[in-house]
Amino acid sequence: MNKERLWNRLHELSQYGKDPIAGHTRFSFTKEERMAKDLTAKYMLEAGLEIREDAIGNLIGRKEGTMSDAPAVLIGSHLDSVPQGGMFDGPLGVLAGIEVLQSMNEREIVTDHPIEVIAFTDEEGSRFQFGLIGSKAVAGVLTEEDLQRSDQNGITLGQAMKENGFDPLRFKEAARDPKTVKGYVEVHIEQGKVLETNNLPIGVVSGIAGPLWLNWKIKGEAGHAGATPMQLRKDPLVAAAEIMQDIEEQSKKYTNAVATVGKISIKPGGVNVIPGEVEFTLDLRDIDESVRDTIEKTIVANANKICSKRKVELEVTTLQRVAPVPCSPEIREVIEHACSQSGVKAYTMPSGAGHDGMQFKDFCPIGMIFVQSKDGISHNPAEWSTK
Ligand SMILES: [Zn+2]
Repeated sequence: MNKERLWNRLHELSQYGKDPIAGHTRFSFTKEERMAKDLTAKYMLEAGLEIREDAIGNLIGRKEGTMSDAPAVLIGSHLDSVPQGGMFDGPLGVLAGIEVLQSMNEREIVTDHPIEVIAFTDEEGSRFQFGLIGSKAVAGVLTEEDLQRSDQNGITLGQAMKENGFDPLRFKEAARDPKTVKGYVEVHIEQGKVLETNNLPIGVVSGIAGPLWLNWKIKGEAGHAGATPMQLRKDPLVAAAEIMQDIEEQSKKYTNAVATVGKISIKPGGVNVIPGEVEFTLDLRDIDESVRDTIEKTIVANANKICSKRKVELEVTTLQRVAPVPCSPEIREVIEHACSQSGVKAYTMPSGAGHDGMQFKDFCPIGMIFVQSKDGISHNPAEWSTK
């Protein structure tokens, strides 16, 4: 492939949606996104692809195969960004796909199956507070209720579609028959430090970890910090502290598991008041659902013991339970084979972050390739990968 061309296009595309403060802000169905899509469409034409936009706004460039009616191989990623995001998250995968097909056309390489590059609409979910919109539509799981979700100005997804020339009533037309799709592959920045730390050029993704979000509410007894002896306290915060330590301990037992308590609230919240109620969240991920289930069961059982010992009440509720998606062994093997042919070490690793491919769990086999993220920084203006 033509490295310079890919590199130059990444920079040219990054001119659209530059945030006035820092980085890039390119939300779905905005002027910035439209310009980025138009430029990408121009690249697709230069690559000799046949272009179209589907009913949800996914931009698709197709290279025909020799077998008529054969299912297509999809290469995709997204062009939207988080607020003040970087220039690689998303665009790299779309532009790399175009570069692959353009290089194949230039070398007159033909394939049996057609290959399509897709720039998916709204992967990040920054505008309507839910993401993977374009890939959901392709997989046929986008719903009418989803179209009613609104942005911070009260504009619904359906209205935004209309304003951009799409008919929200026809969104289902973006759904594809699984029979027309052979598989899905995506190149993406790692968004972590594993590859850089180990000096590895690429990662072969074993699977995409699904997040389980739990809300933990612990009720104790508020009281005077000076007048209540230690042995008479029902302090929910110390129970929470013990539970968090156990969450860390249990997750560390598994290689790919990650657990994060990212939010906590203490009521009533005073320097001289023993807390009466504590609430915190947990984000728990693994690419193996059974591992995630085991950790969940263990930490909840242990937490119940901790709370009954401390005479506080525990209530755990599920906020979100997304199934992890394993990558296809067949596609992984193909990537590993390509690595060995190019003299590149194939390093297998899970994806902790979500990606468009997750929507194709029951739709087609998927595979992903990660490239290094400098210092592991992503969703940040400082996001960088070297040429
Ligand atoms: Zn991304």
